[in-house]
Amino acid sequence: MYYTKIDKEKCIACGLCQLYAPTLYEYDQNGIAYTVKDDNKGLVPVEEKEINDFRKAYTSCPTGAILRSTTPFESEENNSK
Ligand code: SF4
Repeated sequence: MYYTKIDKEKCIACGLCQLYAPTLYEYDQNGIAYTVKDDNKGLVPVEEKEINDFRKAYTSCPTGAILRSTTPFESEENNSK
């Protein structure tokens, strides 16, 4: 199982992730991507039927801005590292 979110600092608003995985990614008013289902918190798992789209988006991102993890991402407020 995968969780995903966008590293907004790395995103260059190229549009590929939303093209390949429209159920996972959307753009803010600046064209920067975020995850639709959890407002870029990375807490909602990618569904089985979305895995292929997710892989396409993940491997297509030119800047490596799409993050993935097998465990939920913590919100930044809780990330006290
Ligand atoms: S593919 Fe990468 S760089 Fe392009 S919009 Fe998505 S996250 Fe941003």
